[in-house]
Formats: sequence, structure tokens, C-alpha cells
Amino acid sequence: MASETDRTLKELFALANKVGNRRYHRLTQQDFGDYRSFDYWRYINGDSECGTTEASRTWVRDNSDRHCPICGEQYSQNNGRSIDHKLPRAQYPWLSLDFRNLWVICYQCNQEKGERHWYEYEHYIFTRHPARYEDIVFFRPRHLLKSLKQG
Ligand SMILES: [Zn+2]
Repeated sequence: MASETDRTLKELFALANKVGNRRYHRLTQQDFGDYRSFDYWRYINGDSECGTTEASRTWVRDNSDRHCPICGEQYSQNNGRSIDHKLPRAQYPWLSLDFRNLWVICYQCNQEKGERHWYEYEHYIFTRHPARYEDIVFFRPRHLLKSLKQG
């Protein structure tokens, strides 16, 4: 049964990658608008220099606790909360402001994750930080990957 689940999962990731790549190479005005929609939700005037919006700060507060779910470190002045796109918005612009695709992690972990696709990221964690692997799998964007398959 476990191997059946793994196989399905692998197919889902492969498909998500395919969908993402296809869209990525044919970016439309709509995609660009979707991409920017995150900036306008997150930052005043859509500009990171202007500070974060009340709405996004509330969301961050409601969707995080005291510790980063990846490294387990407590958020601090030097390493604060940041919003990450599980599936990178450069590749999946239409998921930029899909809240199933967002999670709060610390700034350092966000930097480390970079623009990796979720699947690559799981592999990266598995090899670099095996102790964190179980936690990462827990946060896997299952519903999102399934919806990509249906859409
Ligand atoms: Zn962290």
C-alpha cells in the first residue's frame, strides 16, 4: 500500500512540474497580474520598501506560532517570520495568493529554500537535514498538487 501511495505522489509531482513548466514558458498578462497580487497583499503600495500591510501581518500572526516549522528555532529580531510560496510563484504565478500555497517560515529557512520546487526541496532536506524530513513532509501541499491534477 505504501508503494502505491509513493507512486501516486511521484506522479502528482511530475504532473505539477509539467503544468508549472508549461505555464512558465508562456506567461500571460494575467499571470503577471497574479504574480503581483501577492506584493499588493503583502506590502503597502505593493512595495517592500513601504512596509507590510495590516492584512498580511494579521495572516502571518494567525498562521504561525513561536517557532519556525522547518528549523524549530524561535523567531527573533534577526531571523523573523517570512511568507514562503511552497510552489514558487515565479513558476506558478496563478498560485501567488492561493493561501494553500503559503506558509510562514523563518527568514533563513526561506533563503535556504530559495526557488526550489517543493519536490526538489523535500529531496534537499532529506539529504541535508534528514532529522527535519518528517516535519517537511507534513507540510507538503497535498491538496494543491491534487487540484493541479484536476485543473
Ligand atoms: Zn527556520
